[in-house]
Amino acid sequence: MTKQNTPSASSKSVVKDLESFYHEMQETSLLRDISSVLAWDQNVMMPQLASSGRAKQRAYLARTLHQHRTKQGFLDLVDSLADAIETLSPDDAINVENAKRDTDRIRKLPTKFVSEKVECSAQCYHVWLAARPKNDFKTIQPHLERLMQLNLEEAEYIGYEEEAYDALLDKFEPHARTAWVYPLLKDLAETLKPLIQALTKEPRSQPAPPQANISKQQELNHSVLAKIGFSFDSGRLDPTAHPFATSMGPEDFRITTRYNESDALTSLYSSLHEAGHAFYESGLPKQSRGLALGESVSLGIHESQSLFWEDYIGRSRAFCDFVHPLLSSKFQCSSYSKDELWACVSHVKPSLIRVDADELTYSLHVFIRLEIELGLMRKEISVSDLPSVWNELYARHLGVEVPSDTDGVMQDVHWYQGAVGYFPTYALGKLYGAMLYEKASSLIPDFEDSLRKGEFSAVRNWLQENVHSAGKRFSAEMLIETVCGKAPGKDDFLRYVNNKFFS
Ligand SMILES: [Zn+2]
Repeated sequence: MTKQNTPSASSKSVVKDLESFYHEMQETSLLRDISSVLAWDQNVMMPQLASSGRAKQRAYLARTLHQHRTKQGFLDLVDSLADAIETLSPDDAINVENAKRDTDRIRKLPTKFVSEKVECSAQCYHVWLAARPKNDFKTIQPHLERLMQLNLEEAEYIGYEEEAYDALLDKFEPHARTAWVYPLLKDLAETLKPLIQALTKEPRSQPAPPQANISKQQELNHSVLAKIGFSFDSGRLDPTAHPFATSMGPEDFRITTRYNESDALTSLYSSLHEAGHAFYESGLPKQSRGLALGESVSLGIHESQSLFWEDYIGRSRAFCDFVHPLLSSKFQCSSYSKDELWACVSHVKPSLIRVDADELTYSLHVFIRLEIELGLMRKEISVSDLPSVWNELYARHLGVEVPSDTDGVMQDVHWYQGAVGYFPTYALGKLYGAMLYEKASSLIPDFEDSLRKGEFSAVRNWLQENVHSAGKRFSAEMLIETVCGKAPGKDDFLRYVNNKFFS
C-alpha cells in the first residue's frame, strides 16, 4: 500500500495525519489478510482436531483487529482528517470518507453489544448445524429469536431514516435503501412469475448432466479457468463443501468448488462463479489494498462479477460451443451433445433450494427471503411463525411444496449466523450483472465469436478497466450509471431473459 496522490493540503498537520492514517490502515489490512489465511486453511486444509486451537487464534486476531479499528487515537485521526476533507486530494478524500463511514458505524455499537452478538451468532450457528439435519426448528427458535432481537437493537444503535431494515442492508449494500430495493425486487418477481409458468407449463424432464470422476472434473476446471484467465501463479482452486472465494494478499486469490460425480457441471459452474469473484479482487488497485480505493463497492457488485462468468458468459450458447469439445474429450463422453449441454445449463424449474436454483427462479427465492426479513424487522412476523410463513411463500411464489424445515426455512446459514439484509444483494447482483453484460457485449467487437473461440481477454480487461479498477470510488448505483449510462433496474435482465428463453 502506498500513500495516494500527494495531498493538496498545505497544512503540515494534515500531511502528518494522512501518513499516520495510511500506516494504520496498512496494519489493519495485514491483520485482515492473515485472518483470511487462517479462515481459508480452516475451511480447506485443516485437520479436524486442530479446530479449538484455530478458534483461539482467530478470536485473538479478531480482537486485535477490533482494537486497532476502535482505539481512540485512530478514531481521532479519522475525525480530524474528515474535518479537513476539503483540503485533501480527491483520492485521499475517498479513502478518508469511507473510513469515517466505517468508524462511525463501529462507534455507535457498544462493545458489550458487539460481543453479545458475536457470541449469540456463534452459538446459534452451532445449534443450526445439528438441528438442520434433524428437521428441528423448535430447538433453534429461541437462539434465532435472540439474534433477530439483536439485529433490531443494532439498527436502533446505528440509526435510520425510514426502516430499521435500512441500517442492516447498508452493511452489505452501502447506500441502498428498502424504499428502492423492495419495489424493484417485488416488481422483478411479479414479472418473472408468468415467464417461469410459460416455460414450465409443459412438464419437461430435467436434462441429464454429464457424469465424470472427480479427477477428470478437476482437469476440466483447471483448463477452463486457465482459458478464461485465472492465474494459478497467484491463485488456487480447491475442493470444499461450500464453495467460496477469498483474497489473502495482493497476489493471492483462493477459490473453492464442490464435486459431484453424478453431475460434473456443478463443479465447473461453481468454479466459474468463484473465479468471477477472484477476478474482481485481483483487478482492484493493488497499491490501494486495505483502503476504500482498493476495495469492492458492495456485495451486489461483487455478485454481479461472479454471475457475469457463471451465468451471462457461462450459460451462453457461445460458451457452450467453446466448452463442449473440452468437456467431451476430458470426460470421454462423445455421445453427450452440445444441445444436451445447452439444455442442461438453461433448464428452468421451480425448486426448493436457493443455491441449486436456475437463472429465472433464483430471484424469487431471494424475494421470499426479503419479504421475511422485512416482516421480522417490522415486527409483522414472529420467529415462531417462520416455518409456516416460509412454506406459504414458497407455495405462492414458486408453486413448490416444502416437505421439511431442513429444506425449507433452515436451508441457508445467513440468519443463523446473525446476517439480516444480505440476501437482496444476490438479486441485485443478477440485475447489475445483466446491465454490465449488455454494455460489454455492445462495445466489444465480435463478442460472441470471441467467446466461442475461447478468447476471453477482451471481456476480462473491459471488466477490469470499467468495474474493478474503480475500487470504491463510486457507490453501486453511480458505478452502474457511469459504466452503463443508466440507473440500475430490471430491464436489461428481462431483455436477457427474453432473448435467451423466448426468441
Ligand atoms: Zn457469489
